[in-house]
Amino acid sequence: MKIEKKEKIYEGKAKILYATNDPNYVVQYFKDDATAFNAQKKGTIVNKGIMNNKISAVIFKFLEKNKIPTHFVEKLSDRDMLVRKVSIVPLEVVVRNKVAGSLAKRLGMTEGQALKTPVLEFFYKDDALGDPMISESCALAFEWAKEAELNKIKTWTWKINSLLQKFFDERGVELIDFKLEFGKDAKGKMYLADEISPDGCRLWEKGTGEKLDKDRFRRDLGKVEESYEKVCQLICG
Ligand code: UDP
Repeated sequence: MKIEKKEKIYEGKAKILYATNDPNYVVQYFKDDATAFNAQKKGTIVNKGIMNNKISAVIFKFLEKNKIPTHFVEKLSDRDMLVRKVSIVPLEVVVRNKVAGSLAKRLGMTEGQALKTPVLEFFYKDDALGDPMISESCALAFEWAKEAELNKIKTWTWKINSLLQKFFDERGVELIDFKLEFGKDAKGKMYLADEISPDGCRLWEKGTGEKLDKDRFRRDLGKVEESYEKVCQLICG
């Protein structure tokens, strides 16, 4: 059956979801809109949608090849990606290989400081609350995920971190931290979902330490588009 893009079903900050003629699949459309600080800062990163779609497609394919089930099916066009329809587990799963961002702020540590072992954190996906940090037991208590699901998410997340650290390293980039989201299909099967792009990863150029991610927008560092373009070049060729 040829997949056809149908009506809009949801619009988020960086993407729009469209139904298709198959109830098991949706199209995720990547916008240029950029937000930061719980959407208090808004802007546009020209062609971000095109670059994030490209980068995410390459990374999802790489992870699939390495036995991580992802919602990715195929890249349909510049901004459209066909994905499995999943309901998102309301958790943002953050992995950190070096101190940065909210960890630096929370613990009064220096950005770029090494960590003896990577850190895994959970945040509750709720814009109105500003995505508060939560414990695993909290996720279980409120039934945001079952124990077996949390275990799967943790196992996959550690594996994804090892795979992506090496992937980026081989392309001249240090993976400082990143955020993952997971979703379940109608049968309850779990997949890595959302996107993997400079919007949700901290990527520092090896050697120079130059930031090549959304921090350039968050912190008004300039060269925002150029940095996304550089990541795209390094990852997608
Ligand atoms: N992140 C994200 N979405 C969020 C919050 C964080 O994609 O709503 C990503 C962010 O880009 C970074 C990592 O998760 O790569 C850790 O973010 P942090 O907790 O340091 O928060 P930040 O200071 O970026 O708001």
